[in-house]
Amino acid sequence: MNEQSFQFDPPPVVAIPVAGQAAKYPVRRIFCVGRNYAAHAKEMGAEVDRTAPWYFNKGRDDVVLSGSTIPFPPATHNLHHEMEMVAALGTDAFQIEEEEVLQAVFGYACGLDLTRRDLQAAAKEKSLPWDFGKNFEQAAVVSSITPTAQCGHPAAGLIELSVNGQVRQSGDLSQMIWSVPELISYLSRFYHLKAGDLIYTGTPQGVGPIKAGDHLTGRIAGVGKIELYIAS
Ligand code: MN
Repeated sequence: MNEQSFQFDPPPVVAIPVAGQAAKYPVRRIFCVGRNYAAHAKEMGAEVDRTAPWYFNKGRDDVVLSGSTIPFPPATHNLHHEMEMVAALGTDAFQIEEEEVLQAVFGYACGLDLTRRDLQAAAKEKSLPWDFGKNFEQAAVVSSITPTAQCGHPAAGLIELSVNGQVRQSGDLSQMIWSVPELISYLSRFYHLKAGDLIYTGTPQGVGPIKAGDHLTGRIAGVGKIELYIAS
């Protein structure tokens, strides 16, 4: 008997559109780097640390596509936007050196690392995990993916986010403390990275609260655009 049976329907494949291609990009895991722009680290009251990058995870069920309208998430009074470039892996990467790791990148997207800042702050204070603040449904917003054949590997250029038409975050990809090759190479020491793994590469300064009814629009030079509506 070839056909498997399940106790209930397995979860649906979570997939992201790819610019100019019919085949979608199926998501496997989501890694997010923390404090990767000096000015953002400072606004969060943290020191710039070049010891090693560090990461937290979001779940596949957190993915929401650009252009969506989401309800204001539960259990928070301080939902924040974090505009980020997302690297999307297209092949396996385990213990890969920086010089070779970019070969594993399929493409890049715009992302929003939505954050329940009040819950994150409470967790930080007690040295508890950040999941309540970072890993919740519809907290990983992502645009369509631009393949590297079209955009190369952007290491400089504008990264910007506006809320209701007003610029809130404006930075440059060149301000990253850890470069994309450094981020992925380091992560590959700890995980057998696979095609479908997304890496949110950190946010520039200017993070702040969003509320019901807000319209978020972001862009990254050479990569694309993202937008999100918070239902009123
Ligand atoms: Mn972030």
